[in-house]
Amino acid sequence: MTVFSTNGPQSDPTVQPVPASVVAQVDAADSTLSNPKQAVVSLGSNLGNRLETLQGAIDALEDTPGLRVKAVSPVYETEPWGVEPGTQPSYLNAVVLIRTTLPPSSLLERGQAIEEAFERVRDERWGSRTIDVDILTYADVVSDDPLLTLPHPRAHQRAFVLAPWHDVDPQAQVPGQGPVAELLTDVGRGGVRPRADLELRLPE
Ligand code: AMP
Repeated sequence: MTVFSTNGPQSDPTVQPVPASVVAQVDAADSTLSNPKQAVVSLGSNLGNRLETLQGAIDALEDTPGLRVKAVSPVYETEPWGVEPGTQPSYLNAVVLIRTTLPPSSLLERGQAIEEAFERVRDERWGSRTIDVDILTYADVVSDDPLLTLPHPRAHQRAFVLAPWHDVDPQAQVPGQGPVAELLTDVGRGGVRPRADLELRLPE
């Protein structure tokens, strides 16, 4: 299927077509369209070609109408959480900064569509996954809705989130939690190591 963004035609199997009449109604109703918000997205992969999958997710985010990827962090290798050591492959993790006119719920849907497109396996809570897409923050929104908790409820406890987040935005703040730099100092860098030999591209 071909969809059209401000960049022109792009091929994206995860985007469903929306009738023009609906788009016009939404545009008229949604004041955020002329006022993009910054959001921070965390990506993790521990199955298959992990680096290629992370890059594919970044490119799929960029291919989303109303969304621009502004910065991509260095790559970290991370021991899996919540499982016996050695029972699961390690993760590659990264954090991306985006600007988007999508409301938070649509950004979540887009992240989930990307997860589905990469055939993430959801068989166990802390199970292996081709790609995990989490929304860390959306502007300064705070929400305890279990469907979309903002900031992400575990972001401030995880070195694999905080280390790449601090690299890509050293001044970042987690609403209600404080500066990422301080949270990272508290949590420490145990279990994560930079993979300077691996690089993710900012989409053009
Ligand atoms: P997980 O399997 O850890 O990726 O969790 C997926 C579930 O977490 C989905 O049902 C989401 O609706 C929910 N969720 C709540 N807050 C967030 C968030 N900030 N980012 C992504 N998923 C979230």
